Amino acid sequence: MSTLIQGGIVIIGGGQAGGWAAKTLREQGYQGTISVISDENHDFYERPPLSKAVLTQEDAVLSRLFSEDDTRALNLQWFRPIRAERIDAQAKCVYLNDGRLVSFNKLLIATGGRPRYLSKAWQQHPNVFALRSWDDAQALRSSLLSAKKIAIIGGGWIGLEVAASAREMGLDVTIFERQNRLCERSVPQSVSDALAQRHHEAGVQVITDCGDIQLVDDNDALQIGCQKYPIQSFDLAVMGIGVELNLELAKDAGLTVTHGIVIDAQGQTSHPDIYAAGDVACHPTLSLCLQSWAYAQNQAITTAKAMLNPQSVGFNEPAWLWSDQYQDNIQILGVPSTQTLQHIQRHSENSEVHFALNEANELVQMVAFNDARAIKLGKRWLQSQRKLVPSELADPTFSLMSLK
Ligand code: NAP
Repeated sequence: MSTLIQGGIVIIGGGQAGGWAAKTLREQGYQGTISVISDENHDFYERPPLSKAVLTQEDAVLSRLFSEDDTRALNLQWFRPIRAERIDAQAKCVYLNDGRLVSFNKLLIATGGRPRYLSKAWQQHPNVFALRSWDDAQALRSSLLSAKKIAIIGGGWIGLEVAASAREMGLDVTIFERQNRLCERSVPQSVSDALAQRHHEAGVQVITDCGDIQLVDDNDALQIGCQKYPIQSFDLAVMGIGVELNLELAKDAGLTVTHGIVIDAQGQTSHPDIYAAGDVACHPTLSLCLQSWAYAQNQAITTAKAMLNPQSVGFNEPAWLWSDQYQDNIQILGVPSTQTLQHIQRHSENSEVHFALNEANELVQMVAFNDARAIKLGKRWLQSQRKLVPSELADPTFSLMSLK
């Protein structure tokens, strides 16, 4: 018979969403027990530095979400490193992999995702690395330090950020991407071209439309090739082909799950006492899993408030993510849409902005290289469905600020 532990509000997942939910519950005055079940042994930390400073800098420290004192002050009942094995939605309890059982009044599922691999052979190869956690980043950095030539599988955000970091470290970098352009799913062609140009200029070899990628394991030496690129030796490879969302617990608990856990604007799932946040939670209006830092944080905050007060304001933010590569800060607002009718570009000395408009000349998506102010304006235009004038957007002498 398992011991039953009173969990109060239970959060499964110790990432960005789990951390912000715990903090918000306390900030909103909740004084009961908060339990956090996490398969990592670290306090909550930020993931964006993992592909950048944590790889390139010698003295990088855990990029905590909250200081040690602030984390302690949250007074959490931690279960770590522990995995939640099953949720019994009817009995309102969670089974842990060490045999214990935790009851909940309310439950937040913030289980995130795990790196995807091309196959078991890639996953088991000692010189193939994924990058999701602090421990992954430590392992990758220590191998990068003795590497000369690396392969990156996937030309998405992880791939491009690791490529930029590896070039900064002086390594020879080849990216294999199966689409015919970089970040194909999240940005328009003109942005993929701008990204490719920057990586070419930095000396990265980018192979798009690569077809099947072959792995030849020769006594742990790593040899990789594809139809467009003869098999060659690499010191290591980094997987950046997306993630598998950790949806098993939610599915087994009988919650409504499509490509992610279906939630409303309050983060509530199909069970009244179970909520979801972050990567696993389908955006309530866009109906896709955004997997971005801003969504994980802000949607978790909204959800934590709603767990205490169902009347609180729901989540209604547009998609927004950013990526730092070389000297560029790249911000993406909105998601690609079939409604896009025209693409407009605006180039000035240190920045460039790519706009996608619908037929009513309203903003659908915007990507800015080194222009955070333009993105701030874009957020307002999206919210107010402002009609824009394409020729003004394209003209670098026209002040966007006049459209405040
Ligand atoms: P990602 O951004 O989804 O990119 C994965 C890329 O790999 C896609 O272009 C994908 O193409 C390609 N790919 C898939 N299967 C492949 C194959 N068999 N061979 C070659 N290429 C293949 O995923 P990620 O870069 O791995 O990042 C993981 C998650 O973390 C994502 O959700 C990402 O948004 C997030 N992340 C965000 C940031 C940021 O916000 N700055 C930074 C890092 C990571 P298809 O479109 O055909 O699948």
